[in-house]
Amino acid sequence: MPEKELILVSACLAGLKTRYDGRIIGYPPCTEELQRCRWIPVCPEQLGGLATPRPPADIIGGDGDDVLDGNARVCCTDGTDVTAAFIEGARQVLAIAQQQAVSTAFLKARSPSCGITRLGVAAALLRRHGCTVIEFG
Ligand code: SF4
Repeated sequence: MPEKELILVSACLAGLKTRYDGRIIGYPPCTEELQRCRWIPVCPEQLGGLATPRPPADIIGGDGDDVLDGNARVCCTDGTDVTAAFIEGARQVLAIAQQQAVSTAFLKARSPSCGITRLGVAAALLRRHGCTVIEFG
């Protein structure tokens, strides 16, 4: 029997308490998919050094690609600039993907780190390095 694929998953999608508001929310479609895989939960915002709970943040002036290129910033609702933490967290997630030879990530929608439709910083960096990113939630 072939070994199940190893993927990365946004930690909050896997039921860990990493959301900015400290809540745990179930995402049944993702949970179902995770049963078919082996997976490593990652939270780029925590890996970048941010606490849980933390103030909500958003990308100002572009998307995740623009943040990586230095053309947009990530700021909290109170105005604190957390761009460096978001970039560091994205790098940490990429390092884990590369160390573990993972090429697919299930990522949480509507997040300035993990979103894909509205591209977040970590999603952008993974995509730049050839990772297939799939959005849930
Ligand atoms: Fe962490 Fe991404 Fe989930 Fe936000 S969406 S809590 S950054 S894993």
